[in-house]
Amino acid sequence: MKSVLLFCSLFLLASVGFGAKDKIIVVIDPGHGGKDHGHISENKDHLPEKELNLIIAKKFGDMIEKQLQNVTIIYSRTDDTYPSLNDRVKLANGSKADYFISIHCNANDKKSVHGTESHVHSMDAKKSVGLAQAMEKEFTSFAGRYSRGVKDSEDREHSLQVLKYTTMTGVLIECGFMTNNDEAVFLNTASGQEKITTSIFRAFKNYIVKQHPAIAFVKEEPKKEEVVANNNNDNKAVGYSIQIMSSKQPIDTTIPDFKKVELPVARNEIQTNSPYKYRYTVGSYPSQDEARRDLEKVQQKGFKDAYIVKLN
Ligand SMILES: [Zn+2]
Repeated sequence: MKSVLLFCSLFLLASVGFGAKDKIIVVIDPGHGGKDHGHISENKDHLPEKELNLIIAKKFGDMIEKQLQNVTIIYSRTDDTYPSLNDRVKLANGSKADYFISIHCNANDKKSVHGTESHVHSMDAKKSVGLAQAMEKEFTSFAGRYSRGVKDSEDREHSLQVLKYTTMTGVLIECGFMTNNDEAVFLNTASGQEKITTSIFRAFKNYIVKQHPAIAFVKEEPKKEEVVANNNNDNKAVGYSIQIMSSKQPIDTTIPDFKKVELPVARNEIQTNSPYKYRYTVGSYPSQDEARRDLEKVQQKGFKDAYIVKLN
């Protein structure tokens, strides 16, 4: 037994103590900005590339924030300013980011040229290539775009400074051609932007989940029980409450046993597979810390197994 424990704690040390990450950092880089408009559509009603890049970049960041945890987002810009390419590289390297994702829209002399591209510095950068492939796959399967594939310096016949000098896994995405009329229209609609951003988010999420199996990235959905408990509570409880017991049949909340708690007891009927459909709670607290203060009292008053539950 001892040796098993020792082994377990060594394993824990190994996985937690020695450099294992519990968070990742992503730099999101909306291309161009300020005086540098980037590419421009022929249609004067269309936004310049710098603005489309910013819209997509921010949406991408919002999706990460809403749906993932343990991801720190750093933007190279959040408004219409122009950080130099060197500034962007310094920011990514200086913040020890794990991922660098640069967002652009493309242009070509031929108006017929269209499609998405994901650029890496070199095909030898396997992780960057993996992420770029994931992006292109989602652009096709999720957003229904034509993918022109993953490109590196040799395809481009030049290096992209932000990819060449950044030291982490990095991809520069070209969301479509502003010189192609259909694509310019698509990129200028809210639904087009949503599809492109969701593709980027899906690729990023799937990639990091595989790449860092020890980190829990995906936020847990609130448990059904908690949601129902909240809906049934007439006092519109927010935050936390203390559950003192549950029962198969409804019990009157004014019985002497409950009076011992000296706090009003609320009964909630829960949709659950368990036969204990009725839950009894006291109090409503904005934070877990405040609930904890009353929890001890409640436990001392005879409900030893009481515990804190989340109500929203
Ligand atoms: Zn660009």
